[in-house]
Amino acid sequence: MECPKCLSVLTKKYYKGMMEVDYCPNCRGMWLDCEELDKLEDMVFDDDGNKGSLIHRQELGTQKCPVCAGRLYEFQYRLYDLRLDACPENHGFWLDAGEDERVMEIMRSQQAGVHRKKNAEQEWKQVLKGLHAFLNRP
Ligand SMILES: [Zn+2]
Ligand SMILES: [Zn+2]
Repeated sequence: MECPKCLSVLTKKYYKGMMEVDYCPNCRGMWLDCEELDKLEDMVFDDDGNKGSLIHRQELGTQKCPVCAGRLYEFQYRLYDLRLDACPENHGFWLDAGEDERVMEIMRSQQAGVHRKKNAEQEWKQVLKGLHAFLNRP
């Protein structure tokens, strides 16, 4: 397979001890199939119910899928300003160098957000209990 960006030959690389990806030794981007991206999310955010929808906005890009040579779609990942390129035939996704780390950061911050929300709800319950107790004072 060839790199959609610089047309170098992709090599196999075992990524973070989790999965095999096709890696470009020249521009350091990598190609993930759809299953592989799911695994990447599971590493830091192991709750399918909270993953939400993957594709926010998409437009036809200029790069080509290394599997079928179809033009990749550029899209934004989960409302964040992270651009990925995806094959319209669902062969996979292209990540530029460093974008995988951004996905991890986004997942971590989503997880932190969930915890904050839980704490906020608990705090609100305490406030309501306090108010209830105050209003029911003899
Ligand atoms: Zn490349
Ligand atoms: Zn394809």
